[in-house]
Amino acid sequence: LFFIGCNKSQTKKTVASEKNDLIEQKVDSILKLMTLDEKIGQMNQYNGFWEITGPAPKEGQAAKKYEDLKKGLVGSMLNVKGAKEVYTLQKIAVEETRLGIPLLFGFDVIHGYKTISPIPLAEAASWDLEVIQKSAAIAAEEAAAVGINWTFAPMVDISRDARWGRVMEGAGEDPYLGSKIAEARIKGFQGEDLASKKTILACAKHFAGYGFAEAGRDYNTVDVGEQTLQNVILPPFKASVDAGVRTFMNSFNDLNGVPATGNKMLQREILKGNWNFDGFVVSDWGSINEMIAHGYAKDSKHAAEIAVNAGSDMDMESYAYVTYLKKLIEEGKVKETDVEDAARRILRTKFELGLFENPYKYCDEAYEKATVGKKEFHDGVLEMAKKSIVLLKNDNDLLPLSKTGKKIALIGALANDKTSPLGSWRIGADDETAVSVLEGMEAYVGNQLSFAKGTTVATGRTEFMWETKINTSDNSEFSKAIAIAKNADVVVMVLGEHGLQSGEGRSRSDLGLPGLQQELLEAVYKVNKNIVLVLNNGRPLVIPWAKENIPAIVEAWHLGTQSGHAIAQVLYGDYNPSGKLPMTFPRSVGQVPLYYNYKNTGRPIMNEPESVFWSHYIDEKNTPLFAFGHGLSYAKFEYSNLTLSKKNLNTSEKIIASVTLKNNSKVKGKEVVQLYIRDLVASSTRPVKELKGFQMIELNANESKVISFVIDEKMLAFYTNNKKWETEPGDFKVFIGGSSDATLEDTFQFLN
Ligand code: BGC
Repeated sequence: LFFIGCNKSQTKKTVASEKNDLIEQKVDSILKLMTLDEKIGQMNQYNGFWEITGPAPKEGQAAKKYEDLKKGLVGSMLNVKGAKEVYTLQKIAVEETRLGIPLLFGFDVIHGYKTISPIPLAEAASWDLEVIQKSAAIAAEEAAAVGINWTFAPMVDISRDARWGRVMEGAGEDPYLGSKIAEARIKGFQGEDLASKKTILACAKHFAGYGFAEAGRDYNTVDVGEQTLQNVILPPFKASVDAGVRTFMNSFNDLNGVPATGNKMLQREILKGNWNFDGFVVSDWGSINEMIAHGYAKDSKHAAEIAVNAGSDMDMESYAYVTYLKKLIEEGKVKETDVEDAARRILRTKFELGLFENPYKYCDEAYEKATVGKKEFHDGVLEMAKKSIVLLKNDNDLLPLSKTGKKIALIGALANDKTSPLGSWRIGADDETAVSVLEGMEAYVGNQLSFAKGTTVATGRTEFMWETKINTSDNSEFSKAIAIAKNADVVVMVLGEHGLQSGEGRSRSDLGLPGLQQELLEAVYKVNKNIVLVLNNGRPLVIPWAKENIPAIVEAWHLGTQSGHAIAQVLYGDYNPSGKLPMTFPRSVGQVPLYYNYKNTGRPIMNEPESVFWSHYIDEKNTPLFAFGHGLSYAKFEYSNLTLSKKNLNTSEKIIASVTLKNNSKVKGKEVVQLYIRDLVASSTRPVKELKGFQMIELNANESKVISFVIDEKMLAFYTNNKKWETEPGDFKVFIGGSSDATLEDTFQFLN
């Protein structure tokens, strides 16, 4: 049967239409032909190794990997890119190994391959699932054209800690929004049919708890209770399985004392057991061997034993499986059936991708050339970029800017940076390929534009990367910045983090504007208060002075290749912003972790700051600087008249919650209407509110509309101390509004 699949005369259609059963039969038939070594080989993933176009390596690690490849001891490779390079390696796997099993080629296509879309946190700020899905589909199509058939995305880790640099790679702090976005991105990457030439495998990562690294320090220990694990961390992973994700990646951190990579409860019980996941789990880079430093494994062999027994199917760059698994089986420490199960899962995805029928389907150089950087990709990432922008503040309608007759001073090193907007994790893209804000604004010719960088933001930057430093000394252009500001009608300042100052390994203990940018902002403000602050950043920033003093603030994240055009179109009003924050902005780092769906203490009197007995800081408020879900528009939206269709809910019934939304302005605009629910009394303490629904509504000038949400029992369920998802009878509060600060509320009862 396996050979039926390999027969070139068979069309892809045959495989597609007979799908699952046929795939299982094929996997069975090939497994029967495989030696134990070959099965273990499927579980081995190597980083791209030798100068691919050059002669085969003769010595060292590269030579060993090359030999393993020829012996059929490699199942997948990562970080190989380019149709030609992939072809070269695939050809060895297909033509030189005994069984000719094709390789999976994995790559971190995190927010685009070469045509870069906004960082995932920015995309999440759009709350626009359709466009997010489209953005992932663009990334998949472009990546597939360069030979990649598997992306290590989406990262679905929930995080409440902006110190953690990887928040840029996720969808923010909320499990509901995070789940919806996980689903959209997976559907975008994997499409309807994995056998198509435009789709690739997605990977939900990092399973699990990585976003809860203690003190926001990357890779740090994670200690969370079952309630947080089940109600906050796991839902986006479960949503990923439900959306059909074919692979999972585990995680560097330990979770409540057990490294995620060696965590049987996570991988075998929850993922493969309760959730019935039939794809495979890859380790994170070297995370099997990292269990040694964790103090959980005594050596690499022991680490391999723990990892495989815990359900980690593929070893990314620890060399532990390929070196020790056979021996571990001989010694009876690992079951051969577990190895067979892992190999089966991996082979299944290869069949699903149609690789056995056409191992070179992703290796067409002419197609690659015609596809990479296509105009429609650029149009797509521009649309995504515009949707990702969040208007945080706009006093006296300073924005949008007039298009003619004004003197505009553009200030900030990031305004003239063509690399920073690409953000972190864009390893397929070339430097200097983003449209800068300066270029974006230069496209509008009616004003007089001058530019000064003011200060330097980052020094010593490299893509790979851990040490992108913050410059703290360059004030050489302060005077130039002040001079052009003095003479301007409006000052646009582009400040924040360089694209490589967030991401993996880039935790920060200070969340202010890096380097001398705060000083620059205050110095410019002294001579001209008409400032529009455009933020570029990969995480929430702590900018209380700016919020207090600067009239207009635009959150523009790292928006990718088309960044400058997106920002300029928003500043000039050709695009009316509609983004909403997917993560709370704190007033001070000392408040972190700060998130909207917190639990009350026994002393929650938020309105009596003079009382020393409530839960508070003596030197800071409890409230955020900008709330989760916050975001303005050039239109002005007003909410009124929250009504519930009834006050009692029984199982299988529904309540319709409605609100009137009015656009009280002269421009058309879009608003993300948000539904939150609070379970007032429960068998374990519950958050003060939880997002349960949202809708993107477009209204014309002065238009009003009644917006309705359906509330049913399912939405009220949570993971209880009975260790299952249940809905408990009792009173619930409903809030609807334009942010997590929504004030319109009503209550209903769930009876049973
Ligand atoms: C990251 C993963 C990534 C992998 C491969 C690791 O350092 O944690 O998210 O997919 O490297 O590049």
